[in-house]
Amino acid sequence: MNKPLSITPLSEWGFQFNSPLKMAGPCSAETEEQVHETAKRLAPYNIDILRAGIWKPRTRPNSFEGVGSVGLKWLKDAGYDNNIPTAVEVANVKHVYEALRAGIDILWIGARTTVNPFAVQEICDALQGVDIPVLVKNPINPDLELWIGAFERLNNSGITKIAAIHRGFSTHETTKYRNIPRWNIPIELKRRYPELPIICDPSHICGNRELLREVAQTALDIGFEGIHLESHINPDKALSDAKQQVVPEVYGEIMASLVVRENIDQHQEAEDQLDAMRAQIDSLDKYLLEIMSQRMDIVREIGFYKLANNLAIVQPSRWNEIIETRRDMCARKNLSPKFVAELFHAIHKESIHHQTEVMQLEEKKLLEEKEKGTTSQE
Ligand code: PEP
Ligand code: MN
Repeated sequence: MNKPLSITPLSEWGFQFNSPLKMAGPCSAETEEQVHETAKRLAPYNIDILRAGIWKPRTRPNSFEGVGSVGLKWLKDAGYDNNIPTAVEVANVKHVYEALRAGIDILWIGARTTVNPFAVQEICDALQGVDIPVLVKNPINPDLELWIGAFERLNNSGITKIAAIHRGFSTHETTKYRNIPRWNIPIELKRRYPELPIICDPSHICGNRELLREVAQTALDIGFEGIHLESHINPDKALSDAKQQVVPEVYGEIMASLVVRENIDQHQEAEDQLDAMRAQIDSLDKYLLEIMSQRMDIVREIGFYKLANNLAIVQPSRWNEIIETRRDMCARKNLSPKFVAELFHAIHKESIHHQTEVMQLEEKKLLEEKEKGTTSQE
């Protein structure tokens, strides 16, 4: 059982946030004019948080590493002029002090910082006793515990205005995403901490403009509490993340096209209908487990037979046959071949476990009988 997190709901952060929450702004603050113009052109879309990176964590040196502290004032003023709370990324204690001194409203911890508990702890120590909301991006590697650890560290420093930003996970595979979403990870975070708001960041998930809408819609379909998108007045010329940024007007179009799903808690009728269908699922699952248990009984019987005939547990030819025939069996059903393969890998693993156990128990019995035999002869 996890220790619960102390979480102040978004409605009590002291801002008038939309639902879902809208966070937008350039990847990096580049010039004073750019920050002001972006804010002015985003303002009509009623955004809740104006973001801009001031210190940029770049993969390689000699890339644009952010304008530094001077940009804090540009951001703060642009937010003030357009009545939008501001947010910056902080990666060390110096960033925290400078952002606080500049009056930035909200801080966020970037993906490359969340991976490092030392860095997160230092930030939390610097924030001890400060009442400021902190958003935590997922670590670049798919480690849910590390993500949760950052929230626990913030809580330990007394910070309860917290939210997660899901920005996808780094992978060596070539995919259509820059960082694959692995939706199961934020969903598991939601299962464990239903009160923790999750803001989806399609910009860093996609790494391009084409997929932004689709990913944002998926996040809303799942029930995330906010959308974060990077917006630049001249995306192609942006000094960082050029490929994924959109002009404010395109940002407006994307956001307007999204369908916001209703919260089920407010729909008793829907809840009743779903309960009936879920009851069917419950009984099917019971049946599924019963069948699985029967399958394992036969597997154990085969284990005894293999032992009696001195046969090896794993027979690759049989295993290949299972994989192929089961794949064919699912061809006309609405089950993906990937799912069926994963399912049978899991079943096979459990079967091997059962047969190994059978063999070990039988051998132990034989050994004990042999020992008894020797003792009685003495
Ligand atoms: C950013 O938000 O610009 C950023 C650097 O994101 P991430 O930490 O998700 O890579
Ligand atoms: Mn960026």
